[in-house]
Amino acid sequence: MNIPASLPSDPAAQSGKVNLLDFDRQGLRDFFASLGEKPYRADQVMKWIYHRLESDFARMTDVGKALRAKLEDTCYVGPPRTLFDKAAADGTHKWLLGMDGGNAIETVYIPEPSRGTLCVSSQVGCGLNCRFCSTATQGFNRNLATAEIIGQMWVAARHLGNVTHQQRRITNVVMMGMGEPLLNFDAVVAAMRLMRDDLGFGLASKRVTLSTAGLVPMIDKLSEVIDVSLAVSLHAANDELRTELVPLNKRYPIAELMDACRRWLARRPRTSITFEYTLMKGVNDQPEHARQLIKLMRKLPTGTAKVNLIPFNPFPGTQFERSTPEVIRAFQTQLLEAGVLTMLRRTRGDDIDAACGQLKGQVLDRTRRQASFRQHLAAGVPHAS
Ligand code: SF4
Repeated sequence: MNIPASLPSDPAAQSGKVNLLDFDRQGLRDFFASLGEKPYRADQVMKWIYHRLESDFARMTDVGKALRAKLEDTCYVGPPRTLFDKAAADGTHKWLLGMDGGNAIETVYIPEPSRGTLCVSSQVGCGLNCRFCSTATQGFNRNLATAEIIGQMWVAARHLGNVTHQQRRITNVVMMGMGEPLLNFDAVVAAMRLMRDDLGFGLASKRVTLSTAGLVPMIDKLSEVIDVSLAVSLHAANDELRTELVPLNKRYPIAELMDACRRWLARRPRTSITFEYTLMKGVNDQPEHARQLIKLMRKLPTGTAKVNLIPFNPFPGTQFERSTPEVIRAFQTQLLEAGVLTMLRRTRGDDIDAACGQLKGQVLDRTRRQASFRQHLAAGVPHAS
């Protein structure tokens, strides 16, 4: 699909108004204080925004007329614009959301019998260059603002008819879309506070998960500021292979990453960490790789590690292939027989490119990494970060 190279900027933002989706509860109260308004007024408006998904101040009927007029003059509720949305045959739903300057990001909803999971993006593109990742081929443009992160959930919730605290269509959120969320720390934390807040979307800590490629110092920092669940994109249990697949491993090797995981678990004794492992044919799917993974998982306290096996989703230009069903089953069995809690992620939304690792959006690469990637592909040499 062609997206205009330069989408018009949000008219409200152009007029210097403040987007209320950029504030967590404390931020909103501070903003209201700057307008000379009491904190409970901010809480009242927050409920309209996140419980009733209302963006029009005129319809916030229990808010006084004078305050509504003041809000109209100074601020707005501005979720990202939906450029396109599409449902797959299996119920998976994808939204392409327009950012500034012709960029676009993707948000995906995955319904299952017992829950509905929204996969949210944190950056326009990603600079970490994991070798098996479709987003990585597009390079990096910029971090998303809090409004653009929580706005993805707001758009999806409104579209799906989600009712916070009652009929939830979105029961879980994973920060697992485009981007490395810990590289956009403040905006991501503020957005996750809104996901968790009772006046926001009101989700429990185990239902909001941040997935990281392994930024060790930021894992520690995250554990200090918010109670959410952690997932680690592991994909290999030896440093040589992991550095090849996830170049960040060179900076923070597996031993340091596992230390950070132990510190995380020490702060949250009754929780667990999910380790994502994308299975690629002949790359990381052999019995020896399973043995290495078992050994690594045994270094964590019993019952605190879950492995999530993800069959690789091929994308144009990739050198990797999906492991065969037999190999995937054998890998899972080997882990289960060794007592490692292991789940196999079913591939969803294949017909709309919404499967894991396929979130693409449209990224105008400011770092020129896409061009470099394509040059490497054309030359047939591995792409180092
Ligand atoms: S897998 Fe995640 S961290 Fe790695 S390049 Fe893709 S989006 Fe970035």
